[in-house]
Amino acid sequence: MENAEDQLLFSLKENKYAPRFNYEATDMLTGVFLAEVKAFESSLKVLRKDTKERKDFMLKKIRGLLNKASKNILEYMNLDILKVDLASLDEQALFTLLEHVPLSKREDLAQRPWRHVPVDMSLDNMIVYRTAGTTAEPMAVPSHPVATGCYSPLLVEAMAAWNVEPNFSPGGVGIALVGFQAKSVTVAARLQALNNSGFVKINIMESEWRDPLDPYRYILDINPSVLTGDPFSFSQLAHLGDLLIENGEIEEHYCPAALITTAVALKDAIRKHLVAKFRAPVIDLYSLTETGPIAYGCKAKNGYHVLPHDIHLEVVDKEGHPLPEGELGEIVITGGRNPYFPLIRYRTGDWGRLDFSTTCECGDKMPRIVDLEGRMPVLYHTPSGNWINNRDITAVLDRFPVTRFTFHQDSMGAFTLIARLAPFDKSTEKQDLELALKKILGEHARIDIKLDPNLGDRDIGKVIPFTTDFPLFYD
Ligand SMILES: [Zn+2]
Repeated sequence: MENAEDQLLFSLKENKYAPRFNYEATDMLTGVFLAEVKAFESSLKVLRKDTKERKDFMLKKIRGLLNKASKNILEYMNLDILKVDLASLDEQALFTLLEHVPLSKREDLAQRPWRHVPVDMSLDNMIVYRTAGTTAEPMAVPSHPVATGCYSPLLVEAMAAWNVEPNFSPGGVGIALVGFQAKSVTVAARLQALNNSGFVKINIMESEWRDPLDPYRYILDINPSVLTGDPFSFSQLAHLGDLLIENGEIEEHYCPAALITTAVALKDAIRKHLVAKFRAPVIDLYSLTETGPIAYGCKAKNGYHVLPHDIHLEVVDKEGHPLPEGELGEIVITGGRNPYFPLIRYRTGDWGRLDFSTTCECGDKMPRIVDLEGRMPVLYHTPSGNWINNRDITAVLDRFPVTRFTFHQDSMGAFTLIARLAPFDKSTEKQDLELALKKILGEHARIDIKLDPNLGDRDIGKVIPFTTDFPLFYD
């Protein structure tokens, strides 16, 4: 598909502001694979709206998944509980059975991938993604061109829920994925699943460009419909735009149809800034490399709606026991569309509550995750003897344009906040943060606050937001 005669790709690579792309790739979608992505897209549109049909679909899907796993996946082949006639189980019996299937987790895939990849799959079409994650060891995630191709319809569906319907055409750039990190793959390609529009993945780190402001000039020139990236990278991009406005080169910021943020939970103060700068909605996507997109931020701010129609969600407690709807627990996923790593009760490591009601005011009938937050809750002890959790700290920091931070309590009870503020912030002082934190930690809390404009630049994997050395009452 991609070759030297492709005018669009040529112009993306040879643009006078372009970075030197360090990778060549295509979407790897053959005609058959593209048809599969299109079929997924059709089901997605229909089944997200039809609760009854989706339920039937999921029953069939989970039956098929467990059946195949019991025959072809080493980890499940010898499980006695799967040696039953799955076809004979009704809905309740099937979900009860599912709750007794062992949980799978990141470490399993990292350490023993062969036990989780079906033995009957040809490996010819395997794509391997390396993922660092913020809290766990790096690992390789096996994927398939169809699973990757399905990202496009999922993004389109999330945008449609926000009434954003960009025009994707083969003559233009559909998506620019903006990163800001020490080292990353950069590429220009076409996405057949998105009407064969152009796609660029760029890294706005200074070292990649002829001039530090070129990333923004490049975006202006190639005119992408949608920007995707994390809130941190968007904040840096907005900063570059501000500099171009200050030096009189442009009058206002680039205005895409939408900004889609992934990877890090979006702080409200950051969202407001980005919306104001780019004059576009900022849609928060909850997505993991191992699972693909899971949910998107509800337009009416009622948590996150499950995005794909083909995943089943549960929450479990610290020990892995299933919890009823509404309880806070770790989110566990079954289903999906990655033939090399079918999700079977996969622990995401993220915590939240489930709400299966179908009456959200935004109109989306899909289940919701509320109070979504990464990792297990961390408890902090206040001088007055109360326990509060990291969500309370998040709620305080939410009002400030903090892009990265670490919050720690030492064994003597003293707190340390190290925060990196968005480059566009001109007004936040240490005292503001201290004052806000004292409102929940108490007047007598000892809080050391450091503002570090380089936090995470050396090793983002080490920036773990919430930690404590204070002895817990139940430990
Ligand atoms: Zn909603």
